[in-house]
Amino acid sequence: MQTHNLGYPRIGSQRELKKASEQYWSGKIPVQQLLQTGSTIRQQNWQIQKNAGIDLIPCNDFSFYDQVLDTSLMVGAIPGRYQSLLHEKKLSEIDLLFAMARGYQKDDYDVTAMEMTKWFDTNYHYLVPEFVVNQKFTLYSTKVLNEFLEAKEYGINAKPVLLGPVSYLLLGKEKEAGFHRISLIENLLPIYFEILNKLVEVGVNYVQFDEPCLSLNLNKFEQEAISTTYQEISNRFPDLHIILASYFECYGQNLQTVLNLPVQTLHLDLVRCPAQLDDILQTDFVRSKNKLSLGLVDGRNIWKNDFQQSLSIINKAIEKIGADRIWIAPSCSLIHSPCDLDLETNDTVLTPEIKQWLSFAKQKIDEVVILKQLAIGENPTIANLKFNENKIANESRKTSLLIHNEKVKERVVSISEKDAQRINDFSIRKTKQHEVLQLPIFPTTTIGSFPQTAEVRTWRAKFKKGELSQEQYDALIAKETTEAIKWQEEIGLDVLVHGEFERNDMVEYFGEQLDGFTFSKNGWVQSYGSRCVKPPIIYGDVSRPLPMTVKWTSYAQSLTKKWVKGMLTGPVTILQWSFVRNDQPRSETCTQIALAIRDEVVDLEKEGIKIIQIDEPAIREGLPLRDENWQEYLRWAVRAFRISASGVKNDTQIHTHMCYSEFNDIIQNIADMDADVITIECSRSQMDLLDAFAKFKYPNEIGPGVYDIHSPRVPSKDEMITLMEKAKGVLPSENLWVNPDCGLKTRGWDETKLALIEMVNAAKALRLSQ
Ligand code: GLN
Ligand code: ZN
Repeated sequence: MQTHNLGYPRIGSQRELKKASEQYWSGKIPVQQLLQTGSTIRQQNWQIQKNAGIDLIPCNDFSFYDQVLDTSLMVGAIPGRYQSLLHEKKLSEIDLLFAMARGYQKDDYDVTAMEMTKWFDTNYHYLVPEFVVNQKFTLYSTKVLNEFLEAKEYGINAKPVLLGPVSYLLLGKEKEAGFHRISLIENLLPIYFEILNKLVEVGVNYVQFDEPCLSLNLNKFEQEAISTTYQEISNRFPDLHIILASYFECYGQNLQTVLNLPVQTLHLDLVRCPAQLDDILQTDFVRSKNKLSLGLVDGRNIWKNDFQQSLSIINKAIEKIGADRIWIAPSCSLIHSPCDLDLETNDTVLTPEIKQWLSFAKQKIDEVVILKQLAIGENPTIANLKFNENKIANESRKTSLLIHNEKVKERVVSISEKDAQRINDFSIRKTKQHEVLQLPIFPTTTIGSFPQTAEVRTWRAKFKKGELSQEQYDALIAKETTEAIKWQEEIGLDVLVHGEFERNDMVEYFGEQLDGFTFSKNGWVQSYGSRCVKPPIIYGDVSRPLPMTVKWTSYAQSLTKKWVKGMLTGPVTILQWSFVRNDQPRSETCTQIALAIRDEVVDLEKEGIKIIQIDEPAIREGLPLRDENWQEYLRWAVRAFRISASGVKNDTQIHTHMCYSEFNDIIQNIADMDADVITIECSRSQMDLLDAFAKFKYPNEIGPGVYDIHSPRVPSKDEMITLMEKAKGVLPSENLWVNPDCGLKTRGWDETKLALIEMVNAAKALRLSQ
């Protein structure tokens, strides 16, 4: 039996990589210092895994930005716009990498970055490879080789990790018409052979190929590409031990293809798909010599493994194929886990009771090793001690009073269909709302946040450190809110917002006030490049002890005669952007959050707030990887939103906001959410995204974003009029709102003011021409 790891967090346990990268980008440190930071992180990671006793330690799991971008550099898939940077400007490999990741605007060059998108259903983002007709590939970066040699110097015979060629192609995009990127496999494979040759020459025995596209429904051609690819690799490298890894889902309908591959070890994500082990143990696989890597330790969440349960799975496999053919592993790369629980030393942030239930990357590595020891009876004294510790911790979690709140459970059970439904249909609500609200046609509003200046952020930091008292902090927030309200009135916006100055983050702010949530101090996870997030931890039944937003919303409303829109984060988004419980279905946790938000909505209404927005930007990213599972998810997700929104009277107007593209495939579900008004991102697609709503004849009101908040550029009134004219062309004017694409938190005040004045003028012009 062997242990191996699929990948270790590369940001450094104190976010050293983030800090060094950002310093390098702003010219504060030389490149050598950045490279040194990378090398130190790699060495530390290898040491941690070696000390823990992992048999096969990965290399090339490190990256200065993203492993997909690294692969593009390896195979020389460098889009045309960067060629002059490479050949004339002679950028070094690392500078080229950053130019592709972040764009390059210096000395007469102005090149845009590559597109970024989410890595499967995680919150990690990768840089989308770009392909052209008959694209040629050449070996450019030998990073994988360098990292292997570097590990060797530390006395580690590492296992290089490569993104498999089929997934690499499928994750990319055709930048020209007339071909499918999978047809490039013939051009691409020789580069993989070339690098494999080099690796074998320096003594590589094992290579891990990540083919996570096997967690999607592949068509026949794609499956064939998988078969021929691994057939060819195995023909050319008969002595190389190939590990094929996919994760985040079952192999599903790709299973037969995968079982026929000439690979020596097949990795299974048994956290996401425990059933596939039984499926495989019933096939001819049992009679082969191949090994199974059991991904038992959850790489996507922060809970301690349940040793007892894992051992029963391992033993089942041992019975069928013997211990020699079994490897133990995390379910996927640990880049989705925070680094080290031992760094959580602040008992008031993360209490010892909760901490004993958790495990971050470093602890997960230990779990992998202990599971092996327990399974084969190695190191029995210590392993048994650990087993007992693990059992006690997991048992305490099952029965802890911190987790279980009978009132919440009962309330979830007693939810009726009526609770997920507004009193009357939209057509009736609409009339009542218009009577009360008295808004002009093409009403203007914003999405919630106003610029969070460095100053505002220092107030919060000082308040948290105790350098500002609650009264002092509140006074500063009140001042900022007052100014925002006055200014919105001045420029003539119709529906105002309080500005969200009191909020650090749209999920954290609510998590901090809800029971059942806790936070780590250092539980950072890479989101993209140097950006890291620290998701809240939902450990118990969720409830709302006290109102969360009423104070600041009412305060803002007291300053003006115009309507102030209450601003809440929706249950699906709170769920999606947190580490969630694994002891009950996600849907259950989501429903509990929905009830807490519902109470908040009702309280806001009681205080005279007539317009309430429940943001759900993450509803689409929660979609399961396989489309056959979509409807089940959408059913409970939409229901959760409706529960949160349906406690109010007909004349209270519920808004929702989503900022993502592609509504086509889920437009019915969005309509089922039945928000009175939805605001969406639209400007970057020139309103094309509205087509889905138009085709569907979306009945409720809608605010298609008229300007892109992701850039400091100030759009002109005429541009926005043109966009709204397009919207008018496909949807009834009486249903249309005028607003930006998203919140303005990341913008500066100067550009925000100019842009919103233009926006209000655009709405006025539209009314005149009505
Ligand atoms: N109300 C939030 C804001 O304006 C919405 C953010 C989002 O959609 N991501 O900041
Ligand atoms: Zn948004």
